[in-house]
Amino acid sequence: MRRYLVAGNWKMNLKQESALALAKALAAACPGGDTRIDVLVAPPFPYLLPVKQAVAGSNVTVGAQNAYFEQPGAFTGETSVEMIADCGCKAVILGHSERRHVLGETDAVINKKVKAVLAKGLDVILCVGELLADRDAGNTEAVLDEQMKGGLAGISEEQMAKIVIAYEPVWAIGTGRTASPEQAESAHAHLRNWLKTHYTAGVADTTRILYGGSVKPDNAAELMGQPDVDGALVGGASLKPEQFLPIIQAAQGLTR
Ligand code: PEP
Repeated sequence: MRRYLVAGNWKMNLKQESALALAKALAAACPGGDTRIDVLVAPPFPYLLPVKQAVAGSNVTVGAQNAYFEQPGAFTGETSVEMIADCGCKAVILGHSERRHVLGETDAVINKKVKAVLAKGLDVILCVGELLADRDAGNTEAVLDEQMKGGLAGISEEQMAKIVIAYEPVWAIGTGRTASPEQAESAHAHLRNWLKTHYTAGVADTTRILYGGSVKPDNAAELMGQPDVDGALVGGASLKPEQFLPIIQAAQGLTR
């Protein structure tokens, strides 16, 4: 059965002191050996190494929020997958709506990044999600299909073992407006069916699909309790232990 993953996307927030305090609080609450669920945090690049050290020995793993697809070289301001792996990261978040809609990343760019991350043996958390206008126009599933097709172009069935999908409706990210459990389940079931159609029933059964978009302690259990929701990608609420820990505990309590 799919194991829950609760991932915290810290975005461009925190400073070294607050990032380390948060990492230590999470590590203390998620000791090594407690493998009921997977927990991951994605700090800003400058804090990857100290956060990795702060959670060493715990059940908290560290990921990056982005990566560049080229090999190390003359790419000012970019960070290679090799460097991210060298910092001890296990995964990279790709295709986040802020990268798509603020930084202008296309499915083609995201696909190159997916391939680059997999080539170095790291996991990918691939975010997909529709704008409010897409939902209002009844285009949610078409948008999700397009993003899945583009982001996963050329990715084999074997490689899918290293991919987690995160359904993040853009209208629910950082807005306080959460998808209802029914809306989330409907999108997740659609994505799982897409995996079945484009890969195999086995890939559909084993690929984790996280929900992201204003997940909070008071809605986490209901959202993650949906049959096709395998955890959460959490932004704002992952910045405070008193909000992130209850979300982690909600997943632990639901463990399948
Ligand atoms: C996110 O950034 O992935 C996210 C879901 O943010 P928030 O939880 O703040 O809506």
